[in-house]
Amino acid sequence: MSEPILELALATPLRRRFDYLPPAGVEHHRLQAGQRLLVPFGRSRRVALLLAVKDSSALPAERLRRAERLLDEAPLLTAAELDFLHWVADYYHHPLGEVLFHALPAPLRQARPARAPEPDYWRLRRPPDPSELKRAPRQAALAALLAEHPEGLPAARLDQAFPGWRPLMKQLVRRGLACASAPPPPPSPPPALELNPEQQAALTALEARLDGFHPCLLEGVTGSGKTEVYLRLAEAVLARGRQVLVLVPEIGLTPQLLQRFARLPTRVVALHSGMSDGERLRAWWAARRGEAGVIIGTRSAVFAPLARPGLVVVDEEHDPSFKQQEGLRYSGRDLALVRAQRWEVPLILGSATPSLESLHHAREGRYHHLRLSRRAGAARPPQIDCLDLRGQPLHGNLSPVLLEAMERHLRRGEQVLLYLNRRGYSPVLLCHECGWVAQCPRCDSRYTLHKGRARLHCHHCDKTVAVPRQCPACGSVDLRPVGFGTERTEEVLRQRFPEVPVLRIDRDSTRRKGSLEAVLERARAGGAAILLGTQMLAKGHHLPQITLAAVLDADQGLHGNDFRALERLAQLITQVSGRAGRGERAGRVLIQTHHPDHPLLTTLVHSGYPAFAEAALGERRAAGLPPFGHLALIRAESPSPEAPERFLRAALAQCPESPVIRLGPAPAVMERRAGRHRFQILLISPRRAPLHRLIAAWLPRLEALPEARRVRWSLDIDPQETF
Ligand code: ADP
Ligand code: ZN
Ligand code: ZN
Repeated sequence: MSEPILELALATPLRRRFDYLPPAGVEHHRLQAGQRLLVPFGRSRRVALLLAVKDSSALPAERLRRAERLLDEAPLLTAAELDFLHWVADYYHHPLGEVLFHALPAPLRQARPARAPEPDYWRLRRPPDPSELKRAPRQAALAALLAEHPEGLPAARLDQAFPGWRPLMKQLVRRGLACASAPPPPPSPPPALELNPEQQAALTALEARLDGFHPCLLEGVTGSGKTEVYLRLAEAVLARGRQVLVLVPEIGLTPQLLQRFARLPTRVVALHSGMSDGERLRAWWAARRGEAGVIIGTRSAVFAPLARPGLVVVDEEHDPSFKQQEGLRYSGRDLALVRAQRWEVPLILGSATPSLESLHHAREGRYHHLRLSRRAGAARPPQIDCLDLRGQPLHGNLSPVLLEAMERHLRRGEQVLLYLNRRGYSPVLLCHECGWVAQCPRCDSRYTLHKGRARLHCHHCDKTVAVPRQCPACGSVDLRPVGFGTERTEEVLRQRFPEVPVLRIDRDSTRRKGSLEAVLERARAGGAAILLGTQMLAKGHHLPQITLAAVLDADQGLHGNDFRALERLAQLITQVSGRAGRGERAGRVLIQTHHPDHPLLTTLVHSGYPAFAEAALGERRAAGLPPFGHLALIRAESPSPEAPERFLRAALAQCPESPVIRLGPAPAVMERRAGRHRFQILLISPRRAPLHRLIAAWLPRLEALPEARRVRWSLDIDPQETF
């Protein structure tokens, strides 16, 4: 009998599979789909994933190369996992190899054997003899640290407290001084809250749907106790011996959720890009082996292989961060739905401000719609008002009414949240003499002034330069910042409220690991304080002391370029409002704007998010936009001003016959970014099938175009942004 042929996937952009012969000495029965192999590829070696074992190849026998080594005895990915990833590759029209390797933790993309990961916890077995570690002071220090924690220390804590501890720990283990230990049992659970009638009704409805695929939209105003419902349902799922996957939009939200899930009688692991490769690998295995009952992660956690899945939760499902914006441009939220469907488990999409897509599905009866309309516990809904800025004397970017309200709340020892989605000092640096404006040379965009760092920074390409002392056009030294970012607002606040702590939360102020948590901790400690932040602050952090929240510049969102800009603004205003009055006191919300009569703002302020969503869905239907139409975007960019448009024109000339609407090629809103010129074609179709048929037929022709080699181009299915 002839040798079996291995059909392999490699992490390459080539849309094809590769045939190899099995490694010497590896018999047929040891080969299974989902194993990794090391193979020669060109003049290098690559890790490949086994897709199938077959009898023959289209290649002539003499061109078949032999795989070098089998890396896994047991498959890393099960048949069901492979199947799901095939689906992902098909849906996003992305090369299968790249999808498969994207789904694996980084260490497994390399040729290292998938050894059982090192344990998480370490403890001292016996104290060292007085002279034992005399000549090893670092080991002695590590032993002393362990001695302070008889219950053991997790690797994550050691990473922080004792950088470089692993080799030292090995020495301690060799000496019989330390050992790996099982994680300590979770702390005794806090008494479970008595659910209010709405929560109880939601839980009962969800518990009745634990068998099989049941997508459910849990629309609950901020602070209505959605998380409490997830926790109760998770308890029921764990009791059946199943696992729970929870997706959140931001790394910053994982610690607080981990803390709350810690009360469940199981191991809870995090999975996100803020963790080291080793930590992620351990969490991946804990999921894969069913050792972790709860896996909490950001969008990439949707690829976690659960041994016994029982429930998928997507919290803050409306958040755009669920969409990956480069490479494999997938939506973690949408894939969670596919996951749950294939796993045949329930899915909960939770939000105070559901996406128009999810609301539409709920209205059409595809999702079960559950509502929590009241705040849990004692909290009452906030009162929302627009502040008309027109003609008002402003103190910095703060109106008199806002300042007065702030004073009142701060005097009572309460906290104030100010939202401004613009970091840095000012978005413009202007020469007062001649009108010159500091422009990024690589983008169609202005530099943002960062005063503390004394730099001009382009937020689009990351280029930074020193702040010029003189105008390069006229030599004047009268350069002035125009407009307000968070850094400048902080300055204004410190002058106006010198005795109140101002806690700024944006990407610049929270660069160091743990600093966001530290600031949030400081806020939770209580006492009068002003929290000033970008969208990092608007998301689901629980800050019960805030009684006044303000949106400093709502107009920024009213002038957005994207068709989703208004939806985002409404979600943000509602989320910011949700930060106010979570404790005993009712909250107040103020929205500063020059357009107090804007129909969106008035609907939102007077009738709430559901009424806004209703109106916005009407507009989307009329325009044939999502969720009533399906989109795909082909983007092309190049340092050459002509190449992107030329490529897209050639692409259109090759486009197969199809009812799908094609718009473009058109320049992107920011035509030049990071020194590259950008063009795009937008595809719109009322139904998905024709869109995907068109793309499948079109892509091979696109890839074959000679013009394709002169540009960087990409395909984005269900794009979040269309500019
Ligand atoms: P959401 O996830 O909807 O924002 P949470 O579950 O975080 O809401 O609940 C908001 C706050 O209300 C939390 O402090 C939580 O402990 C509290 N809470 C939730 N449910 C109840 C309840 N039934 N009784 C009292 N307090 C509750
Ligand atoms: Zn000038
Ligand atoms: Zn730039």
